[in-house]
Amino acid sequence: MSMNREGRPTAPAATGGGKPPTFTGNRALQIEEPLLFETGSLEKTGVDLPEPAKHESRLGGLERQGGTGLAGLTEPQTMRHYVRLSQKNYAIDTGFYPLGSCTMKHNPRLNEVMARLPGFGDVHPLQPERTVQGALALMDMLSHWLLELTGMAGVALSPKAGAHGELCGMAAIKAAHDAKGEKRSTVLVPESAHGTNPATAALLGYKVTSIPARDNGTVSVDAMRAALSGEVAGIMLTNPNTCGLFEPDIVEIAEAVHDAGAYFYCDGANFNAIVGRARPGDLGVDCMHINLHKTFSTPHGGGGPGSGPVVFSEAILPYAPVPFVKRNGEGLSLVEHEGDAGDAKPFGRQSAFHGQMGMFVRTMAYMLSHGSDGMRQASEDAVLNANYLRARLRDVMTQPFGDQICMHEVLFDDTFLTDSGVTTLDFAKALIDEGFHPMTVYFPLVAHGAMLVEPTESETKEALDQFIAVLRDLAKAAKAGDAERFTGAPRYAPRARLDETRAAREPRLRWTPETQAEAAE
Ligand SMILES: *Cc1c(COP(=O)(O)O)cnc(C)c1O
Repeated sequence: MSMNREGRPTAPAATGGGKPPTFTGNRALQIEEPLLFETGSLEKTGVDLPEPAKHESRLGGLERQGGTGLAGLTEPQTMRHYVRLSQKNYAIDTGFYPLGSCTMKHNPRLNEVMARLPGFGDVHPLQPERTVQGALALMDMLSHWLLELTGMAGVALSPKAGAHGELCGMAAIKAAHDAKGEKRSTVLVPESAHGTNPATAALLGYKVTSIPARDNGTVSVDAMRAALSGEVAGIMLTNPNTCGLFEPDIVEIAEAVHDAGAYFYCDGANFNAIVGRARPGDLGVDCMHINLHKTFSTPHGGGGPGSGPVVFSEAILPYAPVPFVKRNGEGLSLVEHEGDAGDAKPFGRQSAFHGQMGMFVRTMAYMLSHGSDGMRQASEDAVLNANYLRARLRDVMTQPFGDQICMHEVLFDDTFLTDSGVTTLDFAKALIDEGFHPMTVYFPLVAHGAMLVEPTESETKEALDQFIAVLRDLAKAAKAGDAERFTGAPRYAPRARLDETRAAREPRLRWTPETQAEAAE
């Protein structure tokens, strides 16, 4: 049986370390899908076009001399191939998706219908303003709701993701310091931060100073104060933080940061936990990105699309980027150029156009269909669900910062696996055999062997109870010494443990019989 670099099997163990014992290699109606090149033949074609009439090439001798190298397939063959591949995807539409830090919540289909209305779906960013007044009105309404929910002064809708929003907010903070003639070199980032926070600060040329967590997993105000100086441009802090905990000293932190002449960037990716309960503007935040694709239900995962609007305090708003929507007498217009921004001094432009229109429509549909009371309840239910998991699992799994009430996600560590021969990764892989997508593992780094579970508000109590029962059974099996159930997992997936790092670092993008043989390894 082949092993990966961790010494774990790469082929399903339950089936003798290779193909299942069926003649075809299929598992019931789960087809062992071959590549197009293995199904089709270069000699064949699925289309039957008439010979083109005699014509003169205008490509100046640049036309391809040989065939395309693509295998010919019939229409049904092509369709089945892609439909079967799509069915191998696990998605929020197929089951529970407890990835902590990702907020994989249900996306109501209503949002999709709205986003596809031709008046929204077919607008073009270069259309004249007078022909897109409805789209601008939606952007204006979305801005209003975002400001209402956050208690902030203004918003930039153009950032395309959370990390893009971080860059936007921190660039505005940098511009604010520049306007005062201050050159500050450093940004403070708590050690529990999402990796995008230090990356953003570094991309803007700042040095990053890490602030240690206290024993209870929240930011140490004393350590933060000790790191403050005239060199500090700002702090980037996530609230609720990536351990799923609300930072209780956030107001004190904001005041200390402002007293030092610095600004407070809040990573708002976890806004789903506090919508309708707390407003960042009241906590002293200067900039915060909002992941529309987490908090307001729009579909994500698999690389997009995202949308990361940034809200600003009065102090930073003048430096927010173009473009933005402006009320203009009767109608709405877009301020596209820095010179047209009046007294404001935008730091520049971050996106070619105006943001992710489809995501704005989905978000607005989510907001309007929930109403303010519904959005508040969604947050409360997300927090309740996470605490239900915590309370039902605390006697069999361990938490790194003790048993305290959490927000929308609950963090476990691997202390309960000590001396079991089972790692966090093994534990997660065993969940796959039980029909569950694993939780986020090994993040945040402040917990040893972290397992971060975010149930969101979408799940029923029955679904949570089943998940709890599975986790309890697995924890019991690990403690009882059944390490084999874990180290050989997943047994029932079409593939077991791939070398994911190598696949990402050395992707093979061209098919040849040799790469095929290697990929099969
Ligand atoms: C998801 C997330 C981000 C990054 O958002 P993207 O849209 O993936 O760029 C940043 N910080 C936290 C805490 C997050 O959960």
